[in-house]
Amino acid sequence: MPESRLKVTLLASTPDAEAVCAAAARTCYSAMHTDELAALVHTKDQTVFLRRIVASGHLSVLEHASFTFAVEGVSRVLLAQLTRHRIASFSVQSQRYVSLGEGFDYIIPPRIRGLGEEAVAEYRSQMETAHSWYRAWQEKLGENANEDARFVLPAACETRLTLTMNCRELLHFFSLRCCSRAQWEIRALADAMLSLCKKAAPALFETAGPSCVSGPCPEGAKSCGRAAEMREKYAKL
Ligand SMILES: Cc1cc2nc3c(=O)[nH]c(=O)nc-3n(C[C@H](O)[C@H](O)[C@H](O)COP(=O)(O)OP(=O)(O)OC[C@H]3O[C@@H](n4cnc5c(N)ncnc54)[C@H](O)[C@@H]3O)c2cc1C
Repeated sequence: MPESRLKVTLLASTPDAEAVCAAAARTCYSAMHTDELAALVHTKDQTVFLRRIVASGHLSVLEHASFTFAVEGVSRVLLAQLTRHRIASFSVQSQRYVSLGEGFDYIIPPRIRGLGEEAVAEYRSQMETAHSWYRAWQEKLGENANEDARFVLPAACETRLTLTMNCRELLHFFSLRCCSRAQWEIRALADAMLSLCKKAAPALFETAGPSCVSGPCPEGAKSCGRAAEMREKYAKL
């Protein structure tokens, strides 16, 4: 059974996301008709205007743009954390409908890998053992076996999902999950998603990243103290 690695794809996003959010914000402040506003946001660069909107905290206008990602090569450990974000839509590969009888892919934590080949071999052997337990329960349970056989699967087991968030929720998600205090796997996912968002709609995600990128670190005594390094990292992402 093979190791699995993170793969993130931006499946779709709101066309002209920056223009859509800018038009929404301008609706609030302008006497123009909607068709005039639509023409304005498509003919004039909206970067400075959107920067001001984000800085002012008028974030509801960012809810008009949404982004859909395909994610694979992540563990059920990550899934448990990711689905705590409630302003998002998820479709996750089912362990009831999809049999893992032929084997499952799994995630190897970097710290276990760092212990060397012997440790990795031990970990792989544990995955094989869990698979043999799963197979044994599948055989004993017969019809609809996956539903209960899956109880012995490890949290390392790979999962795949489709995920949609709007821009406002993405900014919030990045502020929490790009932080150096977030768990390594969800941090890697958040970084990959942010990189794709920055390419798709740079003006909307200009200041996205952990909280310290655009303001003071909220972690107090638990702060990593690396705000300058973080700002540099996310400016280049
Ligand atoms: C470093 C780190 C460690 C963590 N450790 C733990 C832990 O040990 N145990 C644990 O259980 N969780 C833990 N969490 C998860 C955390 O408590 C949140 O459940 C998760 O980060 C989702 O954040 P959220 O609720 O702000 O965001 P979302 O669910 O994405 O919601 C976005 C925002 O919408 C608003 N909102 C959403 N739903 C409601 C509502 N019902 N009422 C009012 N406002 C709402 C809030 O303003 C919220 O911030 C941890 C998270 C991080 C980043």
